[in-house]
Amino acid sequence: MRVADKLANIQKQIEEACERSGRSPAEIQIVAVTKYVSVERAKEALDAGIIHLGENRDDSLLSKWEALKDQPVWHFIGTLQSRKVKNIIDKVSYIHSLDRLSLAKEIDKRANEPISCFVQVNTSGEETKHGLAPEAVEDFVKRLEEFPKIKVVGLMTMAPFTTDELIIRDCFRRLKQLQLEIQNLDLPYAPCTELSMGMSNDFPIAIEEGATFIRIGTALVGE
Ligand SMILES: *Cc1c(COP(=O)(O)O)cnc(C)c1O
Repeated sequence: MRVADKLANIQKQIEEACERSGRSPAEIQIVAVTKYVSVERAKEALDAGIIHLGENRDDSLLSKWEALKDQPVWHFIGTLQSRKVKNIIDKVSYIHSLDRLSLAKEIDKRANEPISCFVQVNTSGEETKHGLAPEAVEDFVKRLEEFPKIKVVGLMTMAPFTTDELIIRDCFRRLKQLQLEIQNLDLPYAPCTELSMGMSNDFPIAIEEGATFIRIGTALVGE
């Protein structure tokens, strides 16, 4: 299926989720996750009107970046090893996976200007999931003060793979609550107004619970 048709379908679901929750579709940015697909397919997404592209590996981001340069706004969404930071830091506008001080230190060292970061939170408690425990987030964000190149724009989470909507919704709700707590700290380097949550299988729930960036791969550009 063409990306444009898949996008129309997603936009319809975004509108419906917004209607159910009294939100406006203008509050929600779609990050097209192109990690499974070719440069051509990524280009097709841009032609369909997508602005934000997400990749989770430094090598695939670099090869797509070479072909597309600054046409899209680039997001790094995956686990980021500190030694890979220098490869991607001047190519991306957002990093969604800040989860440790050693990574913050490396980003701060390599970045030329402040970079928008999401602090990744493990809201499900699953051991296989990356991210900070919810209880650790406030202290972590406070410690980021010593890294002037880090701007905490929001929080990110991944819900567990389950068909139990209540479990998924609970993760998103928890992240929203935490986001408000961090925002209320009023830290100049951590406005923390954004929520990166929701993927192909759960983005309508994420929108109902306050997502402002949804990260969609399969349902938008295909596997
Ligand atoms: C792959 C990936 C996505 C997109 O997943 P889909 O289920 O294909 O929409 C979103 N976020 C992260 C962190 C990913 O690694």
